[in-house]
Amino acid sequence: MSNDRSLSRRSLLKKSLTITGGLMASGLLDPLAWARLVEISEQRSAALKKMGFKGTVVKRGDKTFDSYVYGELWNKLHPERSPDIVCVVESDDDVITCIKFASANKIKVAVRGGGHNWCQPSVRQGGMLIDLSRLTRVVSIDKDNKKAIVEPIVSNREMQKALNALGLSYPTGHCPQVKMSGYLLSGGMAWNHGVWGPGVGSIEAIDLVTAEGKLIKASATENQDFFWACRGAGPATFCVVLRYHLKLYDLPKYIGSSAYYFPYSQLLALSDWVSQTAPKLPANVEFSIFAITAPDKYKEQCAADGSKDKIVLVTAVSFTDTREQALKDLDLVDKCPLMDHALERNFCAETNFEKLFDASGALWPENLRCKVDAIFSESNLQKLYGPVKDHFRDFESPQTVLMFAAFTGPDLPLKTPADAAFSMTGNFYGGPWTMWQEAKDDSRSIAWHEKCIQLMSPEICGHYVSETDTIDHADYNKKAYKGKNFERLAVLRKKHDPQGLFFDWHEGLS
Ligand SMILES: Cc1cc2nc3c(=O)[nH]c(=O)nc-3n(C[C@H](O)[C@H](O)[C@H](O)COP(=O)(O)OP(=O)(O)OC[C@H]3O[C@@H](n4cnc5c(N)ncnc54)[C@H](O)[C@@H]3O)c2cc1C
Repeated sequence: MSNDRSLSRRSLLKKSLTITGGLMASGLLDPLAWARLVEISEQRSAALKKMGFKGTVVKRGDKTFDSYVYGELWNKLHPERSPDIVCVVESDDDVITCIKFASANKIKVAVRGGGHNWCQPSVRQGGMLIDLSRLTRVVSIDKDNKKAIVEPIVSNREMQKALNALGLSYPTGHCPQVKMSGYLLSGGMAWNHGVWGPGVGSIEAIDLVTAEGKLIKASATENQDFFWACRGAGPATFCVVLRYHLKLYDLPKYIGSSAYYFPYSQLLALSDWVSQTAPKLPANVEFSIFAITAPDKYKEQCAADGSKDKIVLVTAVSFTDTREQALKDLDLVDKCPLMDHALERNFCAETNFEKLFDASGALWPENLRCKVDAIFSESNLQKLYGPVKDHFRDFESPQTVLMFAAFTGPDLPLKTPADAAFSMTGNFYGGPWTMWQEAKDDSRSIAWHEKCIQLMSPEICGHYVSETDTIDHADYNKKAYKGKNFERLAVLRKKHDPQGLFFDWHEGLS
């Protein structure tokens, strides 16, 4: 689906109408066809209940249908697609019932975890949406053996809260609300990734329901195809994951955080310095550079130096055990030769996961319309920021973030597990998180975003599968894998889902 097409179709719909009702009102669906769809949905709902389904079935025509389909999506730039039926499951048995019913009736299946994937692959046109939002338990934590079992809908913040209380941790993602569900299926760009690795690297086993409706466990020693695929397939996962068995780590006893604001005029010099410095920092330091809109207190200064309202933020976080070690870890960053230009300098403040989540949450606020492409690069950040420096400066969009994490330590690029679908990596990870508030800014913001990616494209070596626009850019799917992993995923899907029960990368998008 191209942006142009999606926009022109979107413009057909009156904003005040709900999307399904809107389809009818706009003449895209005649009343008879609509009535037939409602009738089919009702029949399916009744049949599922008869089979013992205990959760909630929401069908076309129900008042709450749109809120079940779109309500939990993080990105408020909603697609026009919609399933025929939503099944909110409450148990393993509910999932098995859904899969058996869908298979017997040749109904396509999409799965929703937390609804945080920016391009919303959980919403497909037609078929059944299996919604996992009620599977919210931390099933067990084995403190002595450093192991946990969690259901999909446990958020990054909830995970750390439960584990940190016991002196343990897990390589969760950065924003508080994101759920384990799709995060762990994607790869998992984690806190302290330099030491703990990406999230998928610490999955020991997965409980899942196959396209045949069988509940199985996949690990390095059983059902290896699923274990390989689920650790990186992201939106192309061809099963329903119900539980993750995870290896845990000791909670670092001291987390020190440095943050510096610099004038936007220093962006290119800083990005070169960040690129040169990252390999010299220890792997337990997470090092990032952000181009953002300046906090109010710096707006005048920024305008005066020709940067409009833009500013640069550099952050470095050391995950270690003592303040002394954190001071040493972060010293090189504080000795940045450009420090004389700094507008604000905060060196090695003690922090914790709660505060880290608050800080990330503030940069990625809720309830916005978004277009996101997280990419990997092996280049120099100066070459990524160079072509887009003015493009970003001139973009009026206070929420948009153009950031890169520079992987640290001598052993770059960041390692991915040898035996998992997740394989894309680089020295840098990041890109534009284009975020805005109002529908009137859709076309301007989308056009800005696409241009931004186009300008950076010579330096992009790959995309991150669950934070890139695999819907509007089908080619980004393949670009999210190295070697033959993309092809192997297709082979395994055919082997384990021969009927094509689960929507694949491209189906149900228009
Ligand atoms: C604010 C924000 C911050 C983020 N920060 C990070 C970060 O720091 N690191 C990082 O790696 N990612 C990050 N992400 C990206 C996020 O991890 C992925 O988009 C992930 O897919 C979200 O999981 P979800 O369960 O909400 O996915 P959903 O949108 O619910 O699902 C996306 C697709 O994943 C598949 N899927 C999800 N769960 C299951 C399941 N249990 N079984 C089978 N298939 C399933 C389905 O195909 C589904 O269509 C961030 C996203 C947001 C919105």
